[in-house]
Amino acid sequence: MKMSKMYIRTLRETPAEAVLPSHIYMLRTGMIRKLASGIYGFMPLGKRVLSKVENIVREEMDLAGAQEILMSALQPAELWEESGRWNAYGPEMWRVHDRNDREFCLGPTHEEIFTDIIRNGVSSYRQLPVNLYQIQTKYRDEARPRFGLMRSREFIMKDAYSFDRDEEGLEASYQNMYHAYSRVFTRCGLVFRPVEADNGAIGGSASHEFTALADNGESSIVYCESCDMAATDERAECVDAKPDGAEMLPLEMKETPGTKTIEAVADYLHLDLKQTIKALLYEVYNDDGSVKEYVAAFLRGDHEANEVKLCNALGIPEHALAFADEEKMAAVTGCVGGFTGPVGLKNCRIIVDSELPGMKNLCAGANQADHHYINMNYGRDYTADMVVNFKMIKEGDPCPVCGAPVKMTRGIEVGQVFKLGTKYSSAMKAVYKDENMQEHEMLMGCYGIGVTRTMAAIVEQNHDEDGIIWPVAVAPYHVIITVMKAKDAVQMELAEKIEAELAGRGVEVMLDDRDERPGVKFKDADLIGIPVRITVGRRAGEGVVEYKLRKDADKVELSVEEAVSAAADFVLGELKAHSHEAVADL
Ligand SMILES: [Zn+2]
Repeated sequence: MKMSKMYIRTLRETPAEAVLPSHIYMLRTGMIRKLASGIYGFMPLGKRVLSKVENIVREEMDLAGAQEILMSALQPAELWEESGRWNAYGPEMWRVHDRNDREFCLGPTHEEIFTDIIRNGVSSYRQLPVNLYQIQTKYRDEARPRFGLMRSREFIMKDAYSFDRDEEGLEASYQNMYHAYSRVFTRCGLVFRPVEADNGAIGGSASHEFTALADNGESSIVYCESCDMAATDERAECVDAKPDGAEMLPLEMKETPGTKTIEAVADYLHLDLKQTIKALLYEVYNDDGSVKEYVAAFLRGDHEANEVKLCNALGIPEHALAFADEEKMAAVTGCVGGFTGPVGLKNCRIIVDSELPGMKNLCAGANQADHHYINMNYGRDYTADMVVNFKMIKEGDPCPVCGAPVKMTRGIEVGQVFKLGTKYSSAMKAVYKDENMQEHEMLMGCYGIGVTRTMAAIVEQNHDEDGIIWPVAVAPYHVIITVMKAKDAVQMELAEKIEAELAGRGVEVMLDDRDERPGVKFKDADLIGIPVRITVGRRAGEGVVEYKLRKDADKVELSVEEAVSAAADFVLGELKAHSHEAVADL
């Protein structure tokens, strides 16, 4: 395709709101266009990449035996009320009304819809298992949409839902999708790691996140080099320190004027942070936004809290927990900001990290201004409503499986597989009859791929200071032919001949015939990131062109025949290496 006829708008300057390379380059290449905060459209080059990623996903899903359907983004509230999520979902759900004041949402996910389809269409064990999927637009009204396609409010997702008659079937469906996902992300050219994940608001019994490794990723991953352990930091268990065998010393109150942080207290009393108890004060909300209860959570001074684990222990969604308004909480519970301890609190739930009961003679707030206790011991001086391991793991902590120091890295969550079990089939009565006409609830799995986010992750892993370096498998075009002087008939004729020969071999070509300076054309070619560049210039008359791969610095002069062969061999070789056949055993 001739570039002079294409709709492309590249930008020289970096748009102010863009921080991450994927966001910057997709805006600068004009692949995406912002319509409103967190809402983007796809321009021709971007749409070509999106379609290629979608087609890889589609091919692997079809070959794994899933069947494609397409459901509406608009979903009636009634289905969500049946599952209990209409109120529980929180402010990310985009709620709308029709002219008759009937409530709908723009679907953030589709568990209810697929369960509804299957409960109406499946009644016998003979019809199971079933796996249906769609590639469709989802909506989440993010509090802070940012990073372009990485965290947007409208995005394209592939979501699949499997229905099985028993645990064994669910396990087979789950493994089937796990392997399909490994093939999808390998074919997209991503470096990724499947990691154990928290089940979050969806609930269920097992899940893995597929994480593309990237310094700019929002997910933090913990992994072990001595064993196979790999998990999100929210999911990974932080091992308790060994119990302390020391004698209990008498409890003593100390004056600690102005020491409002745990570090200041430790410093003032010359204590190691490991001898202190840190207090975190939370409020838990009802669905209507009123305060349901206050929570005082205590853990060792050198640890951070894992709020996902706190929420799981409390059985509440993450949006129902927030730091407390200290003044209001003080009036109800007797806590004192900066000096809160577990002794003497009232009207609040006390949660103690699982490590504290084994520790002796700790320092904690006395619930009196400018005072702390020392030698505080669990059982003798304080107890808890719940003892929960809610410490956040950090680099160097012992591996929960083998004890070796763990490593941490960052990544972008591009896919997730969940075992839902009977959560939805039970709430929404999706049942089948077995051979003996006995009714059973179906076992469900759900499986998501962030298609637009995968696009962003590919750019995060494949760029340099000049622009994107698309893997051939998802590149908008495979080859760009840059004509130095488009008005030169010899150069244009040769360029068109190369284009036709490559096209004949199944290579996708864009031909830069614009009336621009060569420097501008080279900059755009690098920015857009087409894998192969063939430059037709002053030696066109001799049949000599310049050949260069976007990922390499070297360029070589080749005869037209050599250049066409080199380009076709490279492109077709890469496509083959990223085909289903090449990754079939993953
Ligand atoms: Zn390990």
